[in-house]
Amino acid sequence: MPWIPRGLRHGIVTSGYPRRPDGYGPGFFGHVEVASVRSDAPGMPVRSDATEALAAAAAECPTGAITLDGGVVRLDRGRCILCGRCVALAPSTFRADPGFETSGLGRAALVVPATDDDETALAEARTRLAARVRGLRRSIHVRHVDAGSDGAEEWEVAALTNPVYDVQRLGVFFTASPKHADVLLVTGVGTAGMEAPLRQTYDLMPEPKVVVAAGVDAASGGMVHEGYAARGGVGGLVPVDVYVPGSPPSPFGILHGILAAVGILGSRRHVGAEAPKDAAAAP
Ligand code: SF4
Repeated sequence: MPWIPRGLRHGIVTSGYPRRPDGYGPGFFGHVEVASVRSDAPGMPVRSDATEALAAAAAECPTGAITLDGGVVRLDRGRCILCGRCVALAPSTFRADPGFETSGLGRAALVVPATDDDETALAEARTRLAARVRGLRRSIHVRHVDAGSDGAEEWEVAALTNPVYDVQRLGVFFTASPKHADVLLVTGVGTAGMEAPLRQTYDLMPEPKVVVAAGVDAASGGMVHEGYAARGGVGGLVPVDVYVPGSPPSPFGILHGILAAVGILGSRRHVGAEAPKDAAAAP
């Protein structure tokens, strides 16, 4: 009985995302934005007054996510664990941003700023993916596999089914059987012990199927280097379609990656099959 007054007091808590913008507020650290090294186009030659700070940021980055190559600064969100050091050391270049829609179609899409070649390859990949997943836009079943996670991503994945995110309202359901799954959601660094089970899970899924790798660990191994026990991400174990950066990515970030992978979301910068004509009526 206490649930009734509580429900009346709080009203509807379920997010309206993706129909309506939603988020965690300006204090949330969703990703690192590369800002104002140069005011125009991608490529970004480094300003002389920023060089020292950038060099310090690149040297201090614990995962080597920042590269300064030939006067160009690039940040690999697939390696960024959101520690914030670069933001503190070079605030004129790196900015903590609350945005969570950072999923990338393919590994290269996580490197920012993108080059013209990256954009062209992305457009082609998006078209191919859109054709492949055309039948998956109304309702999808997701099989989640932990391939050596530290558990952080699992908390965020589990949150997707709570009343706030409530992914069932979008036709997204989790399934225990790979034979019923359309989407393989993988977390973790890709440990040797999970190599075969992950591959078997993928092989048992019917076509069409898509693979979403959630978290920096799954994208690159994060702080765990490739070695005898870990593969430095899951991209070499199964064919990943969409990468979701973050350490861990937020539930909205994971949801963005899943919806974009199956074409329920339209293209927003990096990711997503083309939006269906009836997107407004999508569940
Ligand atoms: S926030 Fe990311 S890019 Fe910046 S120093 Fe930390 S890991 Fe490196």
